[in-house]
Amino acid sequence: MQPIDFRSDTVTKPTPAMRRAIADAEVGDDVYGEDPTVLRLEARIAERLGLEAALFVPSGTQANQLAIGAHCRQGDEVLTEAGSHILHYEGGAVPALWGVQPGPLPGTRGLLTPEVVEAAVREENIHNPRTRLLSLENTHNRGGGAVWPLERFRAVVEVARKAGLAVHLDGARLFNAEVAAGIPASSWAKLTDTTAVCFSKGLGAPVGSALVGRADLIREARRLRKRLGGAMRQAGILAAAALHALEHHVERLAEDHANARRLAAGLAQLPGVKVDAAHVETNMVVAEFASRPAPETVALLARHGVLTNTAGGPGLLRLVTHLDVSTRDIDEALARIRRAVVA
Ligand SMILES: *Cc1c(COP(=O)(O)O)cnc(C)c1O
Repeated sequence: MQPIDFRSDTVTKPTPAMRRAIADAEVGDDVYGEDPTVLRLEARIAERLGLEAALFVPSGTQANQLAIGAHCRQGDEVLTEAGSHILHYEGGAVPALWGVQPGPLPGTRGLLTPEVVEAAVREENIHNPRTRLLSLENTHNRGGGAVWPLERFRAVVEVARKAGLAVHLDGARLFNAEVAAGIPASSWAKLTDTTAVCFSKGLGAPVGSALVGRADLIREARRLRKRLGGAMRQAGILAAAALHALEHHVERLAEDHANARRLAAGLAQLPGVKVDAAHVETNMVVAEFASRPAPETVALLARHGVLTNTAGGPGLLRLVTHLDVSTRDIDEALARIRRAVVA
């Protein structure tokens, strides 16, 4: 039995057309600035996000961390929602790499209010860390794929600006937000100083992310990328996949979102399973399987050919739809999950 894999949208394999784009890529040494495909990708993504410049990097973690390094000095503070990726899933990089202090803020499904941000900014005083940066996340991973409503995003950014903070957006899944909200990704990105996007999540590229933003910050990030060992040589091989993904795999994210809703509706019908359908905004479903601890449910479903992850809370599982699960796979997965939990 072929497992159906909902662990993450990172598990996709390059399509045959993407592999052809990779094979045909024109390349050069990108550390010398001579890889035409990387240069094309950087220009394309900067334009698409309405920002000045871009830097191609190996991972979303590196994109976020280069932003923090470019914005902050040692002893500065970065404000971010308490469940954010930069605090939970980047190996402690914020303090380890930059000596920057995290200021975790309470949010709802990962989203902040202007009041919470305003109250958290510290006054200028020798006792205090210097609050320097606000880092937001769209869509929000631990928030179950929540999309920032643009007006709320704008209000939060405005408060940060008034307090003299720089603004970074972790947009690993920003194109999911674009498709779900029906507004361009640039609507959010152009309000920021830097925005990170991933090509290796829902867009289906094998490797790669970009840090996009103001030209002076991207110049500094380029220095820091070299320092971290993230400068790559004939990286056009990878950039070609990212360009292909931008061209062919953005609009189709709507299918992943429809599949997530279908999955949520099916799960909600199972005895002992709870799903809040209103919270399925993009390609993630968080479901509560009440009758056993989440790790046991994950193991049970895996034995029935459905791969999932725990989602933090008691009994909570996360299921992510992507390029390599079809609508037929959703129905097959629901049948397998029913057999697993009803038996
Ligand atoms: C996946 C992810 C990243 C980056 O992850 P990498 O595995 O380093 O590419 C950053 N932010 C969010 C919200 C993510 O989901």
